[in-house]
Amino acid sequence: MSPLNTSRRGLAKGLAAAGLFASASVAGASRAQPASDAAYQAAVSNAYERFKGLNEGKNADYIPVLAEVPSNYFGIGLCTTGGKVFTAGDIAPRFSIQSISKVVTLALVLQESGEAVVENSVGVDATGQVFNSIVAVEQFRGKEMNPLVNPGAIAMTGTVKGSSPDQIWAKIIGIHSDFCGRPLDVDQVVYKSESDTNQRNRAISMLMSAYERFPGNPAVAVDLYTRQCAIAVNAKDLAVMGATLANGGKNPVTGKQVIDAKHVPGVLAVMATAGLYDDSGKWLFHTGLPAKSGVGGGIVAVSPGKFGIGTFAPPLDAAGNSVRGQRAITMISDAVGGNPYASRAT
Ligand code: GLN
Repeated sequence: MSPLNTSRRGLAKGLAAAGLFASASVAGASRAQPASDAAYQAAVSNAYERFKGLNEGKNADYIPVLAEVPSNYFGIGLCTTGGKVFTAGDIAPRFSIQSISKVVTLALVLQESGEAVVENSVGVDATGQVFNSIVAVEQFRGKEMNPLVNPGAIAMTGTVKGSSPDQIWAKIIGIHSDFCGRPLDVDQVVYKSESDTNQRNRAISMLMSAYERFPGNPAVAVDLYTRQCAIAVNAKDLAVMGATLANGGKNPVTGKQVIDAKHVPGVLAVMATAGLYDDSGKWLFHTGLPAKSGVGGGIVAVSPGKFGIGTFAPPLDAAGNSVRGQRAITMISDAVGGNPYASRAT
């Protein structure tokens, strides 16, 4: 069991050199009109065909059962802010949401406690360290962690209000279900596997508690965090979640306002800053899309006002991000003009 480390950086550089991040297509990015349904479906199908045979990367194995998930699974979903869903590949298989849940719990804390609580507890800057770094906690005394790396995320879970762990859990699973537009549950096998091997996260929760970064009990916080990481989703669920963030916090499929629109820009900003770990800057440079990956192989990406994309492909690169997922999202977004930073001279 080892945390993701930097020893595979060479692989990441190789992937970049091999064109992992295709450069933005100016034609797509500058399109003024929304893409048609046919264009969305073609973009999704083309990306699936293009990358389904790509075998680079490796399943996460520091959570033992993740190593057993078939590496060839590949599913893509795109949901527009109009609630239309386009898919390709393995949409049925469910996988553990892992770190993507950090986005949802951040949204929950913003909704019930407000921005100042997040900024004053774990902050919104990137640590510049791997997602489960203990050095970063020590360096910043638990501040400047941001909610998308483990110390900040466990602290966010420990900030959710409730008089019992069950009550807090009901809120956490409830908001995940609201974001994805259907009732979700926990993959108990993943939950057990991670619970048996999460000594590092338990240490992180104790340290964050010692620095008084969250009010809850650290053992309860890390257990609830481990459970939220084991929530089972499919690629379409993540697409609907992304579309909810693209749509001012209102789920475009169910019509439910999941979080207030005023909290969405902050959530997306944190995703843009730290959603793809150490490669967040590189990702943003090439796509402009706020996104979040999980070690289960999922990625959610958001094109504000337009669509959300969810992908599932277990093999990860050295930074811990799904290889096929990154490639597919980049290609789809380029094809339909998803980069929010792209504009045309008037
Ligand atoms: N549950 C995982 C952990 O805490 C989530 C990490 C991730 O997806 N990057 O290590």
